[in-house]
Amino acid sequence: MALSPSMPTLSKTTVYNTLGLFVERGAVRALAIDERNARYDVDISAHAHFMCRSCGAVHDIFSLNNNMFQTPQISKFKIDAVEISYFGICENCSGN
Ligand SMILES: [Zn+2]
Ligand SMILES: [Zn+2]
Repeated sequence: MALSPSMPTLSKTTVYNTLGLFVERGAVRALAIDERNARYDVDISAHAHFMCRSCGAVHDIFSLNNNMFQTPQISKFKIDAVEISYFGICENCSGN
């Protein structure tokens, strides 16, 4: 979600309040991957995230079989949110 520079009157607080509303409605989700910056994701499907320790870029990680979050243990809980975070060095930063 890019902030438009053509809307200088839109304060950061307004944006985050609005985002908070979206989060409440389940339209976007707040990510816990970056403790220093608030991060939001418009894709609320179950997927994990990777954050590069060098440049801070966050990438989506999807599982091939859709079973990334399904283990026998969680069947007894009523899960409404999943947060899986990977950390490391991205392709750009590792020079590949
Ligand atoms: Zn990087
Ligand atoms: Zn994502």
